[in-house]
Amino acid sequence: MAQRFSPPPWAREALDRLEQAGFEAWFVGGCVRDSLLGQTPGDWDVATSALPEETAACFAGLPQVDAGKKHGTVAVVLSGQLVEITTYRVDGAYSDSRHPDGVAFSPRLEDDLSRRDFTVNAMAWHPRRGLVDPFGGREDLSRRMLRCVGDPRRRFGEDALRVLRCLRFASQLGFSVQRETGRALWEFEGPLLTLSAERVREELTKLLCGENAPQVLREYSGVFFPLLPELEPMCGCTQETPYHCYTVWEHTLHVVEKAPRTPTLRWAALLHDSGKPPAKFFEGGVAHFYGHAKLSAQRAESLLARLRFSTRDRERVVSLVAAHSQALPFSEKRLKKLLSAQGPQWVGELLDLMAADNSGKQPGIGPGRLAQVAQARSLVEEILRREDCLSLKALAVKGGDLLDLGCPPGPLVGEILRRLLDQVLEGSLPNDREALLKRARSLLRKKMG
Ligand code: ATP
Ligand code: MG
Repeated sequence: MAQRFSPPPWAREALDRLEQAGFEAWFVGGCVRDSLLGQTPGDWDVATSALPEETAACFAGLPQVDAGKKHGTVAVVLSGQLVEITTYRVDGAYSDSRHPDGVAFSPRLEDDLSRRDFTVNAMAWHPRRGLVDPFGGREDLSRRMLRCVGDPRRRFGEDALRVLRCLRFASQLGFSVQRETGRALWEFEGPLLTLSAERVREELTKLLCGENAPQVLREYSGVFFPLLPELEPMCGCTQETPYHCYTVWEHTLHVVEKAPRTPTLRWAALLHDSGKPPAKFFEGGVAHFYGHAKLSAQRAESLLARLRFSTRDRERVVSLVAAHSQALPFSEKRLKKLLSAQGPQWVGELLDLMAADNSGKQPGIGPGRLAQVAQARSLVEEILRREDCLSLKALAVKGGDLLDLGCPPGPLVGEILRRLLDQVLEGSLPNDREALLKRARSLLRKKMG
């Protein structure tokens, strides 16, 4: 394995300070896993024998953030970086599959490792003492396998979030799930439904953005469908059309695969056809899905609201889903209207989604449409390069000019500017001051009688 431990100096300092005060301290969890995989860890978590107050005292004078002191975690800012330092812990009895009833601190590193979820996450490493791996995490890493520490049923029963973490790591790392662990995943539908929306949202988003998302979604759809019931009808929904050779769900997985790995696009890909099952009807032996994009957008809206996405993120995904089935090719006029209304980033994302969508159709259908999407992309580039007028701000006349023409102050000013912009976007008027003033005069005359 391409083992490469290179903790940054600020992370080393956390260890050193604790040890100089006479405590044990180890790097644990994700940073050990990622280093053994030869990847760069996102954060360097530390586990220590020091009690939270003792940890706080070791870093007196430095900025500290309360990251759940009563659960043993003190977060310290070292060289501008946040390091989470957690006292060795054994979790107490579990009552509701979510929260340990009590936290008990322990003087033993092994106790702390045994409460961790998967063997690959239950290792500790120290620059001089090396690796501590009581559950065979390293071997599981080399087999690329996720295995619960201890009895999977018990561990998932203690905390149902681990079910989603398992699928998320399978997707991010491209690991398979060990047999008993994999079997147990299916038994926690009830407890999964009691998890907080935020935690479900975070885990599912990481899952969706993982490299292996399509495979994990395919294999474990039944595990997470209870959380996303809007998706289930897509399974087995056949598409008897000349464009599709897959069920709606299988097509969706292809689109997820082809979509760039950003939360917005992956969620939009997952949801873009969720309105097809209720929209389906037959005519002359061919299936039709008229109006499905609108139904998909409604489903996306309620699903994302339930998972408490921010309004901004929700609107972004929903608007892409609503727009995904636009006719191709795009005219310059239509692209300009979209650019004006939604901005270049959104239009880029729409084209990404449409490209992914068309790669997931019947072989033979895709290439022509992909070329049309590519053509739209170069048109967008050209429009932006030419700095065509796309907004009221760029329009060659302003509100003041209309007042000078005798327009009464008030809503009419905005209305006329809007009409002028629309005509510029449509190409029926150049963004030229004289031409705009002339049209404004005639619009004003009509309005004022
Ligand atoms: P990432 O790189 O995504 O941060 P990570 O493994 O560091 O992955 P975290 O959520 O930061 O994941 O958790 C840090 C460590 O804490 C994990 O590696 C694991 O050892 C432990 N852990 C986190 N959540 C749980 C849980 N629900 N049950 C048991 N152990 C957990
Ligand atoms: Mg982490």
